[in-house]
Amino acid sequence: MASKKPKTKASNFFCSIQCGKCKEHAEFDDFRKTAVNGDLPKDHYQCPNCHHAFAIERKGEAQVFDNGFIIPPDNVIVEQPSSL
Ligand SMILES: [Zn+2]
Repeated sequence: MASKKPKTKASNFFCSIQCGKCKEHAEFDDFRKTAVNGDLPKDHYQCPNCHHAFAIERKGEAQVFDNGFIIPPDNVIVEQPSSL
């Protein structure tokens, strides 16, 4: 029995992001770079289709309890100026 090869790799399926502005799907790595300047700074993303740019920033401080339990700060999405 011949096995059928899937059209998309498993990694593509798990690492694809949908742009919140233009609804385009693209791979995670494509959101992490620009066409001219290359890689974006840490936690910065830009849509390869419409160039909508955003960053994920920490809001507040982590809470550390005496028993060692830690509640990390919230992540918020902040719009950024897009770059080439
Ligand atoms: Zn987009």
